[in-house]
Amino acid sequence: MAHCTNCSAPLPQDSIRCDYCGSRNDTDLKDVHYYTTHEIESERICPRCSIRLRTIDLNIHGRFLIERCDECLGLFFDPNELEALLEATVSNAFTINRNQLDSINSTMRAGDYAVSYIKCPICSKIMNRVNFGAKSGVIVDRCKDHGVWLDGGELRHLFEWMKAGGKLLQQEREEQRKQIEEREQEREKRKLQSQSAPGGGYPDDSSFGLFGGTLRAADPDLFDMVTKAVRFFTK
Ligand SMILES: [Zn+2]
Ligand SMILES: [Zn+2]
Ligand SMILES: [Zn+2]
Repeated sequence: MAHCTNCSAPLPQDSIRCDYCGSRNDTDLKDVHYYTTHEIESERICPRCSIRLRTIDLNIHGRFLIERCDECLGLFFDPNELEALLEATVSNAFTINRNQLDSINSTMRAGDYAVSYIKCPICSKIMNRVNFGAKSGVIVDRCKDHGVWLDGGELRHLFEWMKAGGKLLQQEREEQRKQIEEREQEREKRKLQSQSAPGGGYPDDSSFGLFGGTLRAADPDLFDMVTKAVRFFTK
């Protein structure tokens, strides 16, 4: 269990704010990444506190800059940066721990903020609330053009999700979805082919089409036999 760096009281599971002294704790990056802070020069604004964000360098494979709010410790990532950071920090999950994923998921409540829509730090458009990955329990705020906002504590949560195999679960789900989609497309294709083939049905035997159409009308049983024979020899 994490403790408050200010008063040493145990921190709540799902919050970075200490119940005793009220200070916020940096559970996201402390002990996880060495980083350096830069002078505030970015024009990006914290969507929670309306102050300018500070750029910090995580030094992963060279410069790796993200933005953080000094006040609420929320983090802003340019597109694909969050994924790259998770990948670089947790690359050794080989199994999916479903029980652990379930419990990680259930410890995450709405966080320190009531459900609300916040503005992109760059373009000020209202961001979309989207689930991160499968079963992570983290709802991130995303601007499709500029990136992703995480409230304080959510990055730590995603590290744990990743370690429990969350990414693998997500890949598994995506693989299944792709297979179902491909099957659907294949079925669609067959349907279209059968609609355009003369005589209807039997999409595989287009060379047999015209003749087949006539024969089927005349003698359905014979047509069936011939179709099977054609299939057999053209395999
Ligand atoms: Zn405290
Ligand atoms: Zn803030
Ligand atoms: Zn934006």
